[in-house]
Order: sequence, then C-alpha cells, then structure tokens
Amino acid sequence: MAELKNKVAIVTGGSRGIGSSIALELAKEGVKVVINYNSNSSAADKMVAEIEEIGGEAYAVQADVSKSEDAAKLVQAAVEKFGQLDILVNNAGITRDTTFKKMTEEDWRKVIDVNLNSVYNTTSPALDHLIASEAGRVINISSIIGQFGGFGQTNYSAAKAGLLGFTKSLALELAAKTNVTVNAICPGYIGTEMVQAIPENVLEKIVAKVPQRRLGTPEEIAKGVVFLCKDGAYITGQELNINGGIYM
Ligand code: NAP
Repeated sequence: MAELKNKVAIVTGGSRGIGSSIALELAKEGVKVVINYNSNSSAADKMVAEIEEIGGEAYAVQADVSKSEDAAKLVQAAVEKFGQLDILVNNAGITRDTTFKKMTEEDWRKVIDVNLNSVYNTTSPALDHLIASEAGRVINISSIIGQFGGFGQTNYSAAKAGLLGFTKSLALELAAKTNVTVNAICPGYIGTEMVQAIPENVLEKIVAKVPQRRLGTPEEIAKGVVFLCKDGAYITGQELNINGGIYM
C-alpha cells in the first residue's frame, strides 16, 4: 500500500462535481492537491477553503486544459508550488449532446478538445515528474458512454473511448521501466450538474435501467481514485467500472 501523505496531485476540473470529490478524498489522505478549473474561480476557491478546513493543502490554478500552453502552465504551477508531482487525474470534461445529423463541426471539435486532446496536453508535460515519483499515477476519467455509446453523444463517446485506448497504450509503454500506472475509471450516471442537465423524464428512464436503480455519487468515483493511488501498484491499463451494474 502506498502512503499518500505529502504526495502531490493535479485534478483537472477539480472545482466541481466528480473532480471536487476526488480532490477532497485525496486531501483526506494527506495529498497536496492542485485544483484546476476553467472559468468558475469561486467554485475552485471554495474547494481550496474546504480542504484547508480539514487541515489539508490545496491550490487553485486556472487553465483551459484543451489548450496545450495552459496545460503546460498548470503542470509547471503544481511543481513550483509543491516541488513534485505524483498523481495526475484527467477529469475535466464537457458534453455537447445532439444527434450526429445536427452536430456542428464546433460541437465535435470542442468536445474532443476538452475531453481527449486535454489528456495529451496535461500528460505530456507531467510525464517526467510522474516517472521521477516512486509511485506515479495517471487516472483518466472516461465514461460508460465510451464503452457502450450514447444517443446524441457521438462526440463525447468518441472522446471517452479514445481515452481508453490512450490509457492502455501508455500503460504498456510505462509498465516495464517505470513505477507509473495508467488506468481509466468509467463512471455510470453520477448525480452532478452534468447529469442534472438531462431532462427529468429522460433521467427517470435512465435510472430505471440501472440494476441498482439509482445514480452514483461523486464520492463513489473519488473512492475509486484513492484505491488506485493507494493500493493500485499492480493495476495498470485497466478500466475500473463504477456504474451500479449498468455495463458489465
Ligand atoms: P461537471 O460537474 O460539469 O464539472 C466539470 C469540471 O470540469 C468543472 O470543474 C469545470 O470547471 C471543468 N472544466 C470544464 N472544461 C474545462 C476546461 N476546458 N479546462 C479545465 N477545466 C474544465 O462534470 P462532472 O459530471 O463532475 O464530470 C467530471 C468528469 O466525469 C468528466 O470528464 C465527465 O465526462 C466524466 N463523467 C461524468 C459522468 C456523470 O454522470 N456526471 C459520468 C461519466 C463520466 P469550470 O466550472 O471552471 O468550467
């Protein structure tokens, strides 16, 4: 089991939803957390305050991770602030749902940029720091939609499936000569603002299809991240499904 105290993590999109729970659960383990956000600085500041209240250390950094210059600055800011980088959680994501017939090139490119190209943008400058760590971790937040598709979600599904290929390939490249593991978590339907945006009648039908008959919580995803960081030394290239049984 890896001792997480004083390890340093970046959580992209760590200011709200699943990312904020991941930041909080890591902080509870003594991890120093860089909370990345794009536009909502007050949500990020609130998370920093919440972590400081429980005696943890956190630092908010604005960066649009779909831009490579911003992502490089994010990694640099983390290392300058805390002196090292051990854990990279690629969590930032957006949806722009619409059927493919109506999907604009902008809808397509934006979702691919924020959900998939961002992972190149952050992992590339982070990699040498993670390799220097005694137990580096890359955790990519994918989705069941990358596994079984989603109506009106060709862009999002392609990005999330792309993350799975990236995860396995990078895991292979790093397995033999480094202590870095690379894994994906595939959440099912989780009660965050992203899912609250789904019309209520559609959401009811979705919940009815979940074998456990409820949405997941952000904390349930965050516990998966902590597990992979703490006990995941021999787990790499995997998809950890946290989905109430909707995809087996
Ligand atoms: P959310 O509540 O909408 O939060 C999204 C977070 O990402 C916010 O902190 C947001 O910051 C940040 N973000 C968005 N665009 C960004 C950018 N360009 N650069 C940096 N940060 C950016 O989303 P969520 O539901 O927690 O989802 C988190 C992740 O889990 C996403 O990758 C999502 O695809 C995945 N996921 C979610 C579900 C679900 O049911 N909710 C299921 C499967 C997978 P600002 O507020 O500053 O923009």
